[in-house]
Amino acid sequence: MNVYESDYVYQILKDSGYEYTDDPGRADLIVINTCTVRKKAEQKAYSHIGRMLSLKRIKPHMRIAVLGCMAQQQGQKLLERFPDIDLVMGPREIEKFKLFLTDIIRGAKIVATDLRGGPVGIIDCAPRVPSFKSRVTGFVSIMQGCNNFCSYCIVPYVRGREVSRSLQDIVAEVKMLVNWGIKDITLLGQNVNSYRYKDYDFARLLQKVHEVEGLLRLRFTTSHPKDVSQRLIQCFRDLPKLCSHIHLPFQAGSDRILRLMNRGYTKEHYMELIQKLKDARPGIAITSDVMVGFPRETEEDFIDTLDLIRRVEFDNLFSFKYSDREGTPAHKMQGKIPEEEKQRRLELLQSIQKEITLKKNREMEGRIVDVLVEGKSKRGNTLTGRTDTNKIVNFIGNFDLIGKMVKIKVLNGYQNSLFGELF
Ligand code: SAH
Ligand code: SF4
Repeated sequence: MNVYESDYVYQILKDSGYEYTDDPGRADLIVINTCTVRKKAEQKAYSHIGRMLSLKRIKPHMRIAVLGCMAQQQGQKLLERFPDIDLVMGPREIEKFKLFLTDIIRGAKIVATDLRGGPVGIIDCAPRVPSFKSRVTGFVSIMQGCNNFCSYCIVPYVRGREVSRSLQDIVAEVKMLVNWGIKDITLLGQNVNSYRYKDYDFARLLQKVHEVEGLLRLRFTTSHPKDVSQRLIQCFRDLPKLCSHIHLPFQAGSDRILRLMNRGYTKEHYMELIQKLKDARPGIAITSDVMVGFPRETEEDFIDTLDLIRRVEFDNLFSFKYSDREGTPAHKMQGKIPEEEKQRRLELLQSIQKEITLKKNREMEGRIVDVLVEGKSKRGNTLTGRTDTNKIVNFIGNFDLIGKMVKIKVLNGYQNSLFGELF
């Protein structure tokens, strides 16, 4: 979501005649988009802000804008701590960025943290030029905010209540991206299953987007296990462009902890969902988020989590130590787990998942897969793309294959990627 919103701001700046530079020392305006989901993200944002502010000391006409969830949460306090910041703006104010920009250039200091703003999209800033030329994949936001209030999570407080974009805007934006050459689109929302627009729920939205000609691959993130509907599962059976991958965060394998987290499902319900998804789309890749060390999590609870991981065999897993967020119900809970114990649990969990991921990637060796070529790999000497199960595949080939779908024979399965050759 932050990448998408940064693109939105980038688009506005480009349309206003700004040029992008990746050298902050040369910039007249620095825009810092922040996250606050865990303490670590917040700390990173603070140290980045500190570094950027030191540049302003040498170049006083420079303007610094801090955007995103950390800006929302800190608001005025951020300006008090760093008076050289010019704009503090939360995610639901993003529509007004252009107005604020004019004001800060005139010397105003602005804190904008209203949460009533509607969801925005790249198409709203009516881009005249394709801003992401040569990109193959793109995001489209379909909704904003969250009403779930998981007890550990700050998102509902910093992104406000759920609001969906109109079906027409979403489809128009998908068409615009496809016209720019983008072939693989991920629909974004904190909880995409809550999408509602008139008679359209998320499954019907998927069907509509699926009809867009020229689109090769459709993905979405994130969905909440408590409201994965039968209709959504059916989409995996019926919609061929819908990729064989679902990111379905489970957070914990213990029913007691799930209840304390206010997640609204049990371990067994989660396991049943996985089975239904596998039945609807054999070979579907499953990835997830999990956290260790939630308040009062016992060794037994933790073992329940490990058990779920072993039973599901996720293709990939994003794992975190519980991080205390002020203002959330979990912050006030008794029975906090010491840092060393959280670290021990995290390392154990990650070592188990590492083996599963490697095993699954090795199983791909010898198989022929369809890869949408996205660009040069990081090292620059190979091409890189993804399978529809979201696995990264590197191979040697001509750069004119970028943007094309190719068949690749997988030769090696590694921890984080596959290596193969054109078939
Ligand atoms: N809407 C998504 C998650 C968004 S936050 C969902 O409900 O699945 C992304 C991930 O960050 C979460 O899935 C969770 O695993 C993690 N997370 C959120 N709050 C956290 C906290 N306080 N401490 C540690 N991890 C957290
Ligand atoms: Fe946070 Fe839960 Fe909403 Fe996800 S569903 S953003 S974890 S409150």
